[in-house]
Order: sequence, then structure tokens, then C-alpha cells
Amino acid sequence: MTLSPSFRPDRMPVVEIDSSALAANWRLLAARNPGARTGAAVKADGYGLGAGKVASTLYNAGCRDFFVAWAGEGLAVRAALDAAGEAEAAHDTRIFVLQGLEPASIPLHLSAGLTPVLSTPDDIAVWREGLRSAGRRAPAAIQFETGMNRLGLNLADAQLASALVASGELDLSLVMSHLASADETTDQSARQRERFLALAALLPGVPRSLANSAGVFLGADFGFDLTRPGIALYGGEAGPASRGVLRPVARLTAAILQLRTASAGEAAGYGAAAPLARDTRIATVGLGYADGYQRAASGAGVAIRGLRAGTETFVAGRRVPVLGRVSMDLTLLDVTDLPEAALAPGDRVEFFGPNLPIDAVATAAGTIAYELLTGLGPRVERRWSTGAGLS
Ligand SMILES: *Cc1c(COP(=O)(O)O)cnc(C)c1O
Repeated sequence: MTLSPSFRPDRMPVVEIDSSALAANWRLLAARNPGARTGAAVKADGYGLGAGKVASTLYNAGCRDFFVAWAGEGLAVRAALDAAGEAEAAHDTRIFVLQGLEPASIPLHLSAGLTPVLSTPDDIAVWREGLRSAGRRAPAAIQFETGMNRLGLNLADAQLASALVASGELDLSLVMSHLASADETTDQSARQRERFLALAALLPGVPRSLANSAGVFLGADFGFDLTRPGIALYGGEAGPASRGVLRPVARLTAAILQLRTASAGEAAGYGAAAPLARDTRIATVGLGYADGYQRAASGAGVAIRGLRAGTETFVAGRRVPVLGRVSMDLTLLDVTDLPEAALAPGDRVEFFGPNLPIDAVATAAGTIAYELLTGLGPRVERRWSTGAGLS
């Protein structure tokens, strides 16, 4: 037997990922805007699940437009599409890089066919200079500022871009902006849409994109030519209209390492933060904040956000509460209300998934599904399945 530091005991944490649910969510989002292309945000390693596998799964579902944050992420997506043998992918996929253009990254963009999203006059200058010195032409995208005050060209910068396009000095394949509050009932989205229309009018004929996941659920007015859903693909909620229509894609599980009974009057976990009011059956599970199960999900006594109602997990057919503080590699559960024979060391506990919606878990931990997914640590095995689905 070879010994290796990468040896994985069966009891280590696993996130199961259902590729058919991922593809089904993409098709569902695409069906909501039949007049637009439907892309996919696969930044942050495909929201923590593995950008390469996410991208090749969505490619097979019909997706041709991918969005990443950094050029290196784009390269990984390109390599995965190539390696998956998507022979046509090199020609008919577009990978948009949302941020961080600098001179040194231009060769990477050109060789891997990455499209930079230009958000500042400096971005435009860097891109034009890079193309000039490479002796190449290649399309870019432009992002407009419409009310989020994050990244994007304002009106004067947009006029500059418009002049460059008119004189043939800049090729654009997309203009886009980003909605700040599409998942809320507010008129901010409508106001951003008005500003987007006014700015895009400076660049007539260039395809337009405004909607993230929640924007897709705002209706056809927000679809334009291309949508860019992220969280909804992965089964996370994107505003009230998305509730109940998306399939869960990921299930996080970890194994019980020890079961014990502690007496009333004792306490459990760091800081003795969980005093035991009754004789308590405790399951110690091999998952902690180093794996992305946040300390803020602790059952009680965590100073970060004060006391909050404990987060729950799912085991042996029912929900059980997290007990005390989540530690780095371990989490304690109060399983007193389960029959003793129902559990044994090695049994796996679901921390989010089909039995425990990721948004509910995120809310209990004071965060959002995006952070739970992208925070999944390197010790959590990404285990892809097809067909059977998560049960
Ligand atoms: C992350 C991101 C998206 C996807 O957002 P979701 O809310 O996950 O759908 C779309 N566009 C831009 C510019 C983004 O940064």
C-alpha cells in the first residue's frame, strides 16, 4: 500500500454535486428568456463546486457564454472544455473575464480566447495597447456603471468608448451592467435598466446583457441578448419568484466520528458555550469551519453575532440542532431526540442539500448561499453524480 498525504479516509467531508440538476436549472433559466442567450457565471471555481466540471456540464446543456472574475479562472475553464473533448468549444464558446485586466494578462487572453470586460478608461487603454503590440484584433466587452458604484464606465467614459468603436479602433461583442438589488422588491432594478438603456444607446448594435440570476426572474424586460445567472444554476434562491422552482445541486455531508452521552450540568464544545440542561446524546461530526461550515452557524454562545437560533443538520430522517461552537475540523450535534439505535459512527450527516435547503442554512448562519458554496474548503471532496440525483 502506498502512503500519501492525499489519502482520503471515507469519513472525510464530501459535497455531492448533481450534474443533471445543474443542467436542468440552466435549461429552466434559459426557458424564462427564450429570446436571449443564457450564459453562466462560473467564477470562484464554479461557485466552489469545480469550474471545469460545471462548465463542461453546462456546455453539454447548451451554454456557450461563461463568466469568470480573473483571467486564470478563464484559462482553467478553457482547459477543461478542451480536455472534455468539446472540439467545437474553442470556436463557439465565449469566456468573459470580469475584472483585473493588466498588460501582463493580455497574452493569456489572446491565447486562450478570453474576452476582457473593460470597466475603466485604463482598461480600454491597456487592451488597445496590448492588441497593438501583439498585432491582433479581438473583441472586448464593456461594463457600464448604472447604480451599483462597483465596476463600470460612467457616461463620459462610455462616450469615449463609443467614439473608438465608431472609428474602428475598438471591437465590442457585448455591453453589460450589473443589478444591485434584483432579488428585492424595489424600483432600483427599473432605474438601473433605464440607465443601462441610455448608455447602451451610445453603442448601437452591440449585444446587451443585464440580468444575473435574480434578474432572470424579473421578466423579459431584463433579458436583453444574454443573461448571466450564477447562484440559481447551483440551486440557490434568486428572489421570491425563484422559490421552489430550482433543483438542489449540492449536498454537503460529513461523517459521525463519535457518539457519547453527557450528563445534565456539563457543557459541550469550546468556551463551554453549550451548557447541557438535560442528559444529552452528542454526535461529533468531522466537518468544521476550515471546511466552510462557518463558525457563525454555531448553536449558541458565539460572540461574532451574539446568540442566534441554532443551525440544523439532517441525519437519520430528521433535523437535529448544532450544539455549541463549530470548531475548525469538528461540529457537535444534539441527537438526544433520535432513537439510540438510529445512529452509528460512520453515518453521514447532511449539512445542506435536498433535505435542508442551502438558503435556510445560510440564513441561520447569518450569511447567504453564495458564501456557503464558495467557502467550501479544499478538504471537501467534490463528488459528481449524474442521473440518480440527490435524495
Ligand atoms: C457574479 C455575477 C453574476 C452572477 O450573479 P448571481 O447573483 O450569482 O446570478 C452576473 N454578473 C456579474 C457581473 C457577476 O459578478
